[in-house]
Amino acid sequence: MNPWFKPSLHRQRHEFVVDFVRKNKPQKVVDLGCAECSLLQKLRFHRHLELLVGVDLNGHKLRRKMHGLAPLASDYLQPTWNQLCVQLYQGCVTQKDARFKGYDLATAIELIEHLPLDDLNRFCEVLFGYMAPQTVIISTPNLDFNQLFPLTSPFRHSDHKFEWSREEFQSWSQNVCSKFGYKAKFSGVGQAPPGQEQTIGFCTQIAVFDRLAATADALSDSAEDAFPYLQVYNVTYPSLRDHNILRKTLVSELLYWAEKMKNEWLEKMTTAQGDQEEANPVEEKGKQEGGGGGGAFEEIFWTNDQEPQCLTLHRHVAVPLLLLWNRCPKLREMSASVANLSQLVTDDPQIKMNGLRSAVIICSQERDLGDEGPNDLLDSGYAESSYVREEHWVVG
Ligand code: SAM
Repeated sequence: MNPWFKPSLHRQRHEFVVDFVRKNKPQKVVDLGCAECSLLQKLRFHRHLELLVGVDLNGHKLRRKMHGLAPLASDYLQPTWNQLCVQLYQGCVTQKDARFKGYDLATAIELIEHLPLDDLNRFCEVLFGYMAPQTVIISTPNLDFNQLFPLTSPFRHSDHKFEWSREEFQSWSQNVCSKFGYKAKFSGVGQAPPGQEQTIGFCTQIAVFDRLAATADALSDSAEDAFPYLQVYNVTYPSLRDHNILRKTLVSELLYWAEKMKNEWLEKMTTAQGDQEEANPVEEKGKQEGGGGGGAFEEIFWTNDQEPQCLTLHRHVAVPLLLLWNRCPKLREMSASVANLSQLVTDDPQIKMNGLRSAVIICSQERDLGDEGPNDLLDSGYAESSYVREEHWVVG
């Protein structure tokens, strides 16, 4: 059937849900009859989601596909503040499970036509009466469209227990609405050929149900609550809300920016030095030889009312935390204050800081092996010699 449609009908159905999620930003979503988890695969990239759950009777299908829902390398490299949890359950949608009450959105894509009519009634009680999500999206084949297919059997698939015309689906949906307090809107995917849109409708018909008021059952716990579904997968995506992940991300962001600012600083200093040497070659040469490298730059960059600037000493550049904070919005967002930033990164073995923990110390050039020991920074006297200047960098 798919060759009829581009993109495929399967994909159009999922795009319909993805569009809804993009526009309405639900936080807790469950896909009932999730099969190969392909809708969940698409939804997990919507990082406003906090809980994304799939349910299917067929545990084998779930176990086969569940690993595709694991976080990607990019989720670890660029974690956000959102905390997404993805879970899969093996269970029958005609059974009540207390963990599924009060979701923002439940989807049942091409599920209902697989349920015998008695089960469909039980499913409605469970879905609309007990789980009572804010929104339900149900899709099912449109029988009216079948006349365009060369079918040899009454239905599109051998496991379908029924297929409904648009009138049957809409009348069933309206009954559900009046019984459980929802209102429904109808649409679909898979356009009929030009001129037949009105008479035949969409290939897949879709109803979006919106709950009219909070259902008490969905919001409260009850003594009868049971948990019959079997959890087969549970993964929590990396988030900056996790203290360790926050620290690691801060450290790598800080090192990246400190290195970048060190390079910018050295370039600026080298240019300034070159200009001075050109203007006064004899005096500047003598100054540099006697001053020992970075010492020659000091007068240029320290004044009280200026933004703190880097400081060069021997083979190191001190990059003030306040300067990093001012330049990098991501550091500001992650640490909330310079004092916090200092505290969060202070014990990390990759980061060297000055005595007052107000600047990151970066080696300014590649060293020759055996040139300086691992503690050369301390031996250089940098920490002590910079104290006076550091007073300007510390913020409350
Ligand atoms: N929703 C899927 C999608 O869009 O890719 C396709 C659904 S597939 C056509 C129907 C699924 O419903 C099957 O995976 C089947 O195992 C599941 N199913 C059938 N009866 C069920 C029941 N009573 N409870 C839970 N899942 C059921």
